[in-house]
Amino acid sequence: MNKKLIYVLEDEENIRHLIRYNLESSGFRVRCFETGSSLFSALEDAVCDLLLLDIMLPDTDGYEVLAKIRLDKRFCNMPVIMLTAKKEELDKILGLEMGSDDYITKPFSVREMTSRIKAVLRRASNNKVAADPVLPERIELMGIEILPVSHQVRKDGKRLPLSLKEYQLLEILMSAPGKVFTRDMLLDKIWGYEYIGETRTVDVHIRYLRRHLGDNGPDFKYIDTIRGLGYKFIDSPEASDV
Ligand code: CA
Repeated sequence: MNKKLIYVLEDEENIRHLIRYNLESSGFRVRCFETGSSLFSALEDAVCDLLLLDIMLPDTDGYEVLAKIRLDKRFCNMPVIMLTAKKEELDKILGLEMGSDDYITKPFSVREMTSRIKAVLRRASNNKVAADPVLPERIELMGIEILPVSHQVRKDGKRLPLSLKEYQLLEILMSAPGKVFTRDMLLDKIWGYEYIGETRTVDVHIRYLRRHLGDNGPDFKYIDTIRGLGYKFIDSPEASDV
């Protein structure tokens, strides 16, 4: 079986060794990097299956690296797990939802790290398998265009820097305009059954997605809130009356 390739960007040598040792014994291939620039030159040669990304780095920081990855169509769907050392960093990740797929706080147990990595990889491959056979090449509604194959979203021709989850939410909603998706349905589809969290997570991501779309309430143009139920994509102004 093909071993998954994990890239690790972490400037602390002992943490790099700890991660490498444990991931290699769990059957992963691992490449470690100390600087953002060395990571990006490696990505030019080969994309990895998942990136473990530290925040405090000598030449850059993890947020900048993540933003750069999400804006590059070659890497934008690469699963990323952030490593945070401080409470403020965690707050920032949660607050901005920078497009990381998960986060791990230091100090972490290697068992937790390994199981989070496996969960993110499983989700990524489930999404791929589930998405491939049914998706059209392009969906366009009300000036919003999504290209499922490359996971790109454009509004009025301008590319929007959505996180993976924001993209998935939009894709699901736009694949069936007018259909109401409950929070539980969206959680299952995007976060998967193993996700232990609250349906509020969906609301938070919808809020970020609306911000990207410039969809400001109280009268939403694109994504409608169905009180007590969930969300739907409004495919035309008339459809909002349904
Ligand atoms: Ca560091």
